[in-house]
Amino acid sequence: ATMPPLLSAIANAGRHGVLVKSAVVMERLGQVDAVALDKTGTLTEGTPRVTDILPLPGSGLDEKELLALAAAAEHPSEHPLARAVVDAARTRGLTVAAVRDFASAPGIGVRARVEGRTVAVGAPERLLYDDRSTAQLAPAVRDGAQAFVADLEDGGRTAVLVTADGVPVGVLGIADRLRPEAANTVASLTALTGSRPMLLTGDNPRAAARLAAGVGITEVRAGLLPEDKVAAVRERESAGRRVLVVGDGVNDAPALAAAHTGIAMGRAGSDLALETADAVIVRDELATVPTVVALSRRARRLVV
Ligand code: ADP
Ligand code: MG
Repeated sequence: ATMPPLLSAIANAGRHGVLVKSAVVMERLGQVDAVALDKTGTLTEGTPRVTDILPLPGSGLDEKELLALAAAAEHPSEHPLARAVVDAARTRGLTVAAVRDFASAPGIGVRARVEGRTVAVGAPERLLYDDRSTAQLAPAVRDGAQAFVADLEDGGRTAVLVTADGVPVGVLGIADRLRPEAANTVASLTALTGSRPMLLTGDNPRAAARLAAGVGITEVRAGLLPEDKVAAVRERESAGRRVLVVGDGVNDAPALAAAHTGIAMGRAGSDLALETADAVIVRDELATVPTVVALSRRARRLVV
């Protein structure tokens, strides 16, 4: 028998390194008319590197001690930023201590007991202003941390704050490379769907705006928690759009589930994102997103 068009399209997508989970998904991919892209690990390569290690004056820590503390807390996390911190510590031959009571909050950061102290590593805005344990922080400490953070973010870096027992002890600067195919992919998706993709990220607005400008994205929503990404998708869908979400993180899983169609980046993607998404980019080529949308359109024309 001749293969039905949607099944041939699935096989074809597979040849491009995209795992489409069902014929229904193959069909839905061609219906999308709006796209929402995640930043870290999706538009960027997802292999960020630590570029700056800045202990705060008065913390009593040197660079190596700060990095070792952060790496211990990050060790159990599968977030790309966590991997960057652990790799940086290993590269410098530092011992990564075992931790207890590890907890992670998607879009915010991690927290763990390290050698008798509670260490948190994560988004500076959230750790400095949302955390009740730092509400009584001396303004000088807060301003000192904020100055380091602003410098890094102005340089397009992601800044993560490290606190010990609720007090900021240092800031790490982390940089990730844009995927070389990011701008072309945005252009192809714009042409295919008739609307520019929007950027949904948990990262800071400065780093997000800088990256968006370089790839032709004009609508940027930054500092988002997982539920904020869902809200952004729902907003579009209630305006009659069928939204394709592309993401890689635990923090993208709810948006991948809420969207008309969700695609996960496979190589650095979290298990939860891979399980939740309707399709997975196995070979790590972002440019295959417009390819599978086009494959779906062609198959649907043959089906109808
Ligand atoms: P994106 O939406 O761009 O993929 P995330 O939502 O995963 O980004 O992360 C948003 C922000 O939350 C990061 O920029 C960082 O400040 C903070 N964060 C989340 N997880 C971690 C972690 N494991 N270590 C340090 N910071 C983290
Ligand atoms: Mg991500």
